[in-house]
Amino acid sequence: ATMDYLSNIKDKLFAPVSIEEEKSEFVSNTTTKDELTGLYLRDVFDVVLRQKIEESKRNNIQLSLLMMDIDDFKIVNDSYGHQSGDNVLKKIGNTINSLLRKMDFAARYGGEELAVIMPDANREQAFKAAERIRKAISQLKFEDFSVTISIGISGFGRDINTSEKILKAADNALYEAKDKGKNRVIMNKEMD
Ligand code: GH3
Ligand code: MG
Ligand code: MG
Repeated sequence: ATMDYLSNIKDKLFAPVSIEEEKSEFVSNTTTKDELTGLYLRDVFDVVLRQKIEESKRNNIQLSLLMMDIDDFKIVNDSYGHQSGDNVLKKIGNTINSLLRKMDFAARYGGEELAVIMPDANREQAFKAAERIRKAISQLKFEDFSVTISIGISGFGRDINTSEKILKAADNALYEAKDKGKNRVIMNKEMD
């Protein structure tokens, strides 16, 4: 059933419709989105990422990927409870959605890991968007605490030309952001 569902999505995605049309078709279908964050599910993300890479290859257009992870989220859960943690995830999801362009595609990649596909965005544009998101999230007010996120950026390029490679490159950049002290945006160097 999952495979039917995915190939169904795939057929729709590969149909020659605009990104906005694709999205509005999805919006009415709740099973494509994570209920807590309001972001797309991982399964959908994987299909869309592969499609966007093919489009970039074919039409020689830019494509950036943001991979984000909440900093010290375990401490939030341990100190304030799982429900507070859920509320953090929810607000972060809303914040990300409100700051992106219509054509961007934000998903809950894992538990507290979120990913954004930015079609037709170069590294500078992706970096600006990531910084906007990072700052906005750091300014959110929760009970008596705040949270930060780290973001890794990668982009489609000569050597980074598959979904696995673009994900790995963003992951490496995210890892570097954590390593350098969190609450920051790092661009993968392999982009050039
Ligand atoms: P780092 O800064 O290195 O990312 O540290 P971290 O504590 O965020 O990372 P770690 O991987 O140790 O912990 C992730 C936590 O995210 C643990 C897990 O319980 C929590 N988490 C994942 N999904 C959810 C969720 O849906 N709700 C809540 N409340 N917590 C979640
Ligand atoms: Mg994590
Ligand atoms: Mg984390």
